[in-house]
Amino acid sequence: MTEPSLPATPAACIIAVDGPAASGKGTLARRLAAHYDFAYLDTGALYRGVALSVILAGGNLENESDAVSAAESLDMARLEDNDFAARLRTAETGLAASIVAAMPGVRATILAAQRQFATQPPDGKKGAILDGRDIGTIVCPDAAAKLFITARAEIRAERRFAELRANDGSLNLGTVLADIHARDARDEGRATAPMKQADDAPLLDTSDLSIEEAFAAALALVEAKLNR
Ligand code: C5P
Repeated sequence: MTEPSLPATPAACIIAVDGPAASGKGTLARRLAAHYDFAYLDTGALYRGVALSVILAGGNLENESDAVSAAESLDMARLEDNDFAARLRTAETGLAASIVAAMPGVRATILAAQRQFATQPPDGKKGAILDGRDIGTIVCPDAAAKLFITARAEIRAERRFAELRANDGSLNLGTVLADIHARDARDEGRATAPMKQADDAPLLDTSDLSIEEAFAAALALVEAKLNR
């Protein structure tokens, strides 16, 4: 006698949010996750975690095998650890992350972790929101809704400067803007999974919007896509 088949688990609802550094995508993705009660994954933190692990282990950031080993042994819980988390957010770690993120071996390892999170969100959540650079194009091309968030580079630099200067008095706006340009160039120009707006991802420019206005616009775009 054949066993009755189990009811299929409904597929998780996935929302992909991509965009360049300091575009506001993290804030919007977190707000959307709270709104829908979905799980949230900051995928930039994974690449930052890989880069920081290489640095702390005394490895070479330009060496793909050092970076792949760090990716394979990346401890997600460590990303929440206070000392590690504080260094994760610095401008240097952001730039270091964009170096290891260009390596195909690192991307392949991180890809698996991201897909696992998206398709089986933790804590029994019915959906997942991932933010990054290649979520709508590579990680979750079939996401139910996608957004590509952007803002002018000067505005993004001002936001990042305001965020980082409390912990780093030596920072100046010019250096932050140069970092943003360097990171954009590396993220857009790499051969593997470059940062790119997916064909079916609407563009939201947050340059002249408050956080509330940007959230209202993002929510309207997602709702329209989910047909609610
Ligand atoms: O978003 P965040 O600034 O934390 O990302 C740090 C770096 O990680 C980015 O500049 C990019 O090089 C890399 N990244 C990526 N793909 C993602 C998320 C981040 O390549 N999905």
